[in-house]
Amino acid sequence: TPPEVIRNFCIIAHIDHGKSTLADRMLQVTGVVGERQMRAQYLDRMDIERERGITIKSQAVRMPWAVDATYILNMIDTPGHVDFTYEVSRSLAACEGAVLLVDAAQGIEAQTLANLYLAMENDLTIIPVLNKIDLPSAQPQKYAEEIAGLIGCDPADVLRVSGKTGEGVPELLDRIVAEIPPPVGEADAPARAMIFDSVYDTYRGVITYVRVVDGSLSPRERIAMMSTKATHELLEIGAISPEPAPTQGLGVGEVGYLITGVKDVRQSKVGDTVTGERRQAAQPLGGYHDPRPMVFSGLYPIDGSDYPILRDALDKLKLNDAALVYEPETSGALGFGFRVGFLGMLHLEIVRERLEREFGLDLISTLPNVSYDVRLDDGSEMEVTNPSEFPAGKIASITEPVVRGTILAPSEFIGAIMELCQSRRGTLLGMDYLSPERVELRYTLPLAEIVFDFFDALKSRTRGYASLDYEPSGDQEADLVKVDILLQGDTVDAFSAIVHRDKAYAYGVQMAGKLKELIPRQQFEVPVQAAIGSRVIARETIRAIRKDVLAKCYGGDISRKRKLLEKQKEGKKRMKMVGSVEVPQEAFIAALSQD
Ligand code: GDP
Ligand code: MG
Repeated sequence: TPPEVIRNFCIIAHIDHGKSTLADRMLQVTGVVGERQMRAQYLDRMDIERERGITIKSQAVRMPWAVDATYILNMIDTPGHVDFTYEVSRSLAACEGAVLLVDAAQGIEAQTLANLYLAMENDLTIIPVLNKIDLPSAQPQKYAEEIAGLIGCDPADVLRVSGKTGEGVPELLDRIVAEIPPPVGEADAPARAMIFDSVYDTYRGVITYVRVVDGSLSPRERIAMMSTKATHELLEIGAISPEPAPTQGLGVGEVGYLITGVKDVRQSKVGDTVTGERRQAAQPLGGYHDPRPMVFSGLYPIDGSDYPILRDALDKLKLNDAALVYEPETSGALGFGFRVGFLGMLHLEIVRERLEREFGLDLISTLPNVSYDVRLDDGSEMEVTNPSEFPAGKIASITEPVVRGTILAPSEFIGAIMELCQSRRGTLLGMDYLSPERVELRYTLPLAEIVFDFFDALKSRTRGYASLDYEPSGDQEADLVKVDILLQGDTVDAFSAIVHRDKAYAYGVQMAGKLKELIPRQQFEVPVQAAIGSRVIARETIRAIRKDVLAKCYGGDISRKRKLLEKQKEGKKRMKMVGSVEVPQEAFIAALSQD
């Protein structure tokens, strides 16, 4: 296909603003999917995506659209969650234009704004579109002005469509052809294609999605991955329309997939450049980096004998999740498990859900934490991803990851938002009004303060009206300490946490209080303490049972006594010994649960 008739675009939208529905309509209007094959959210393939209504993996689909000639439109779907910002950035880099899709009853949201800025930095042509104009609550005029102010266009240029009824969709396709520039590349140069997604398929191995920038790739030739120098044979190359179909190759500006038979997505990394093995490009395309886990948690099987199943399950998940990292870990309290690194909390939830659903595992996970760089007095440095490995004493400095957060909200909530950000150690970077009623606030915040429950706190303080987006923004030094929880003087490793010094006391009091409620009384008194090093900051006491339960049976019926002993023995199986204290497994699970 000559590049002049190709248009590569993506859709930037906030979750629920109607991206999947619009994509469905485009597939229908262009005739790629017939009425009878149509099902809702055609491109959202993973079960979890459909159930949660989010797109985790991006997809690319080719659609013909006739104007003066027949054009080839490649729609590249982008993931819509902060955990996957890097994937979003690569999808944008594969396009020349972006449809900015905004719910006409909601207005623009922080997620959209962040991706819009990313698209503008990449010099993409932006086509502004208001969706859901069929809704009675739609306010197209108001939001057209907001969008126009943001991207510097005329409010009349903001298209109005309904993904539901199909109104305005053909006009949108026409605008894509008219306004988005065709791809430009050197047809005779050595091949360079950017990987913007790669997914594992049980039958075919890894399917890699690429956008060709220069040169071309053909079936059966040998290709090389520029980051690793690994070479593979191209077993199949083609385009998706709406199902994968082999072609005679892909040339300048084309978007499609390739299959090499590799079984692990780590061999086909998002952002990497594919070139020919014999005629290799001198320079890879820019912007590649390895996925970096931001959140860590210990995962343990509730039934210790499931450990081998958990290990195999992680090995399998890794094949289609290049961002998943893990290593074995042992906990005195929880037994054998793994320390697992995730891109963020959604990624963590998805992995956990898949482990439980697809592999039938019952898991217990420790409180998530970020990773810290600790420098010791002797000049040595270490990365701490597990609080129980936090070094004792001799610490020169600790740095923690920070993010740049963008919050959009009605301006009446400015005070509440500032208060919340302050309590999370945030620094205000700037504030802008999108309209007299809506404001954008930009903050630097420690990742540890926002990754877990910040969004919920923000929502509840703004009656659900605020939206949030953030991206990694380096590290900062912080006054952090490790808080240990001790039962009768013994540290319970699963409860150790790294927290800011100002918040250590609150964490200690809360955890000690929880455990006092959850751990049954023993034969003896059990102190529950929270401590920083050897300094106790909180203390509770689990009082002793007054008398031996067996005393009740003294001189009584022997069989009743035996029954009682057997019952105790059974109970013990589900108990863990922490020093001489018996702790029921349920107490651990309850204490570690985040609600
Ligand atoms: P996504 O999260 O951006 O992919 O959004 P979806 O396409 O899943 O749509 C979110 C919700 O909005 C669904 O309940 C859709 O049925 C609904 N929706 C999408 N487009 C329209 C539209 O044009 N009009 C109306 N009334 N509802 C829509
Ligand atoms: Mg969707």
